[in-house]
Amino acid sequence: MKKEQTVLLAHGSGGVMMKEIIDDLFYEGYGSDILLQGDDAAKLSLDHIKPGSSLSFSTDSFVVSPISFPGADIGRLAICGTVNDVATAGATPLYLSCGFILEEGLAISELKEVIASMAKAAKEAGVKIVTGDTKVVERGKADKLFINTSGIGIIEPGRNLSGHNIKAGDKVLVSGTLGDHGIAIISCREELSFSTTITSDAAPLNHLIADVLKSCSKVKAFRDPTRGGLASTLNEFADQCGQDIKIYEEKVPVKDEVRAACDMLGYDVYQVANEGKMVCIVDAEEAEAALEAMRANPLGKDAAIIGEVCTPRKADHPLVSVVTPFGSERVLDMLVGEQLPRIC
Ligand code: MG
Repeated sequence: MKKEQTVLLAHGSGGVMMKEIIDDLFYEGYGSDILLQGDDAAKLSLDHIKPGSSLSFSTDSFVVSPISFPGADIGRLAICGTVNDVATAGATPLYLSCGFILEEGLAISELKEVIASMAKAAKEAGVKIVTGDTKVVERGKADKLFINTSGIGIIEPGRNLSGHNIKAGDKVLVSGTLGDHGIAIISCREELSFSTTITSDAAPLNHLIADVLKSCSKVKAFRDPTRGGLASTLNEFADQCGQDIKIYEEKVPVKDEVRAACDMLGYDVYQVANEGKMVCIVDAEEAEAALEAMRANPLGKDAAIIGEVCTPRKADHPLVSVVTPFGSERVLDMLVGEQLPRIC
């Protein structure tokens, strides 16, 4: 008799199994033409109201444990995560909704801290929280609190950013050092605590995206390398555009302490989560201009051009690879299994 399949933690990893549950269940069950685009934000045409205008719309839930960690907390993540997803469409994020699921027994003082952190992050991003919902479940039925945020933003007429626009020859940029958020969370998990000065990078990147779009007209796509890290983001882009993507290890910014922690824990830094970094794919002509725009913003001071998009070597199977400083090349796969549950 076949054993009944159940949901596993790895289905929330941002890697291969999450892609499977999305493709096989959600897309299969209710995939609309817009959902099936597979970008971080849905682009909603308002052509029938005002020709050329459109909205960016995205949603995200936050279940991070612990709820407060070096550099940020669940409230800051909940604002930044959704602002960043809305902004990936090249939109100006404007309004957020916020739904709380609270566990009976949560200290009101803890909830107040989370709310203050959300208010601060919303101010930084320049967005308003305009609607919300509050549910409470019995003790033991949730872990302190979970938050869902949704956001909308305005996309300028004529702007069309998507992983589907990416072409061979385009350059790959990242706005700063990789792995900071994931390592900050691991450093304070009870079962794995070790000391580090690394703090979460959680930050709203809508202003950085706007800066890049001000100086570049040939940006193809943005995506934030959250769960599953850079490896998932680049594999998702490769799938969308059908091209290979190659990055160069020595060009990828990683803090020494993060690299050391990854070595110690056996993690591939390219698969570790980030909450304040943006990957940008841009026409080669404008790569330097995009880099300059990122570096001029304090949140992009460590930005780098890390690789390029190439004609696929196997037509039906686009590959993402990393070239090592010694010139050898290895395939960069999506995370298989679960690296660290409840990272965001
Ligand atoms: Mg995202």
